[in-house]
Amino acid sequence: MLKARQLKKKYNNLEVLRGIDLEIHDKEVVSIVGASGAGKSTLLHILGTLDTADSGEVDVKGTNIQTLNPKKLAAFRNEEIGFIFQFHNLLPEFTAVENVCIPAFIKGDKHAQTKAIKLLETLGLSDRADHKPSELSGGEQQRVAVARALINEPSIVFADEPSGNLDSQSADELHKLFFNLRNELGQTFVIVTHNMELASMADRSLEIKDGIINTGK
Ligand code: ADP
Repeated sequence: MLKARQLKKKYNNLEVLRGIDLEIHDKEVVSIVGASGAGKSTLLHILGTLDTADSGEVDVKGTNIQTLNPKKLAAFRNEEIGFIFQFHNLLPEFTAVENVCIPAFIKGDKHAQTKAIKLLETLGLSDRADHKPSELSGGEQQRVAVARALINEPSIVFADEPSGNLDSQSADELHKLFFNLRNELGQTFVIVTHNMELASMADRSLEIKDGIINTGK
């Protein structure tokens, strides 16, 4: 599903990533852990095509993303990759269902609305579809963000501290949701987290230490 080879990234003189090699398989839930400042978000952004490495390669579904021009990369990102952030980044003026539709509208999908409604139903949010984000709880807002990440049926979803801003009950529900979505839809997830419970639930947990994946050896 995803392969990264020898990813390196420097900020000024700070070598954040010093040669990351990793592989994510189809239908896996992989967590990325490490101390604050270890480079987890930097790695996630590079794997998710939101940022570029100084050197190294990323293949997603057999496409070497370095070879795509900006327009093709934007389309690839919209169709193949979903993102969930710590702060849901929903657009405040739009309802839940409208927020979920946005990536599908960008793609020109005529069935956006139907798909969004169905997804909200799957995520237990049918009765919240017409609410604006400010009218939803933190957990509900984050589930809307999950629906938005899933609407284009991406190959892989990246989540950056998705439960970092939630109370523990909402966090537990969100974590269970990821595994249900993997089991029911076969969705692949890569999740940066400080939450040790979530990290231990994952199929694999990768730790970044000193700019590389710590294999514990
Ligand atoms: P983590 O997600 O593990 O907390 P980050 O990937 O956010 O770590 O950051 C890793 C290091 O890179 C930190 O020291 C951070 O200050 C630095 N860093 C991240 N982004 C930038 C940037 N755009 N410019 C300069 N330094 C950055």
